[in-house]
Amino acid sequence: MEPVGVSTLDAVALRAVVEALGMPAWRTKQVREAVWRPTVRSFDDALQLPVALRTALGQRLCFSTLDIVEESEADSGATIKLLCSLGDGQTVETVAMESPATDTSRRRSTVCVSSQVGCAIGCPFCMTGQMGLRRNCTAAEIVDQVRAAATVLCTHGLGPVTHVVFMGMGEPLANYTEVVGALRVLTRDAGISARRLTVSTSGVAPAIERLAGEGLAVTLAISLHAATNELRSRLVPTNKAYPIERLLVAARRYAEATGRRISLEWCLIGGINDSDDEARSLRDLAHELRAHVNIIPMNHVDGSPWAPPDSATVQRFMDQLRGVRVTFRGSRGATSNAACGQLRATLERRRTVQPDGSLSPPARPSRRTPAPV
Ligand code: SAH
Ligand code: SF4
Repeated sequence: MEPVGVSTLDAVALRAVVEALGMPAWRTKQVREAVWRPTVRSFDDALQLPVALRTALGQRLCFSTLDIVEESEADSGATIKLLCSLGDGQTVETVAMESPATDTSRRRSTVCVSSQVGCAIGCPFCMTGQMGLRRNCTAAEIVDQVRAAATVLCTHGLGPVTHVVFMGMGEPLANYTEVVGALRVLTRDAGISARRLTVSTSGVAPAIERLAGEGLAVTLAISLHAATNELRSRLVPTNKAYPIERLLVAARRYAEATGRRISLEWCLIGGINDSDDEARSLRDLAHELRAHVNIIPMNHVDGSPWAPPDSATVQRFMDQLRGVRVTFRGSRGATSNAACGQLRATLERRRTVQPDGSLSPPARPSRRTPAPV
């Protein structure tokens, strides 16, 4: 049986383990602190614990459910892309992004996590969509991406993590239970407030409504990308099951139940969804929902005939959105190409894909060795 990941155990469950190992209950707090300390990479590093407890915990629990097998930097080191290998050899991408303080905002360290290995939705502009779904991530695998990224940020003199966005591989609301489990751990144990956790969805309307009732009030980002059903069904196939009118009902319910402003994501694709008409429809929808809009020029995807519009078209599109709260995200950001299956795809070209879908062993030794026994 796979050892249990320590990061998703609550205080009661962890205390039961500590006591079962013959240790006093008060050690539980020390163990929990060690799990969330970015300088601690294994139970052996938790020097405040007695050696016997470190060894016993390592035999009983998994310190991390993943290993970092590749690390690469972009934006002069402000963006760090990680490829994480899971227990069964499947890989997911995680991205850590550092933003310095500005006149209007504080310093941020954002981690972009994957919620699934691949994705079943199949949006044609998305690299992950071309992979299909291999499997869901567990809550521990999601939480451990945040911990791994926190450790990497720390070794670069960056962090601590202030924000987590579910904008890596996968559709989070198609892996509802594990994603909600991870959100609860991140608010409870990592101390990240719900408003700093963003779940991005292609628009699984019933799951949005269910999330509204969880009492979590995380930020919800809806990947809209088109304002008419005909175009949206082409770009985001979830729209065939939950067309825009249905999605709006769910979005309103979410906003009402949580008091959170919704974000509408718009991946701008040249000649596809960059017309004045589309921009005006987006503006009307944003007004109606009182939503914030994020415009992201499409990242290059190998084999796709699509590309971002030229800068004059981008400017014209933005001009149509006057009066809307809008942010323009360049190639950096949560949806930078590494967050959408491209890092993994590059590696798949360099490494062999095994019959079970996992990648051949990394060329370099892994940087973290958790204790699955
Ligand atoms: N499945 C979820 C979350 C993961 S994708 C969703 O679709 O919302 C995170 C974001 O990246 C989405 O807004 C998605 O539309 C966007 N995205 C995917 N491929 C992209 C690309 N090639 N260029 C720009 N954004 C992209
Ligand atoms: Fe899946 Fe999101 Fe990519 Fe669409 S954009 S294929 S929903 S990960």
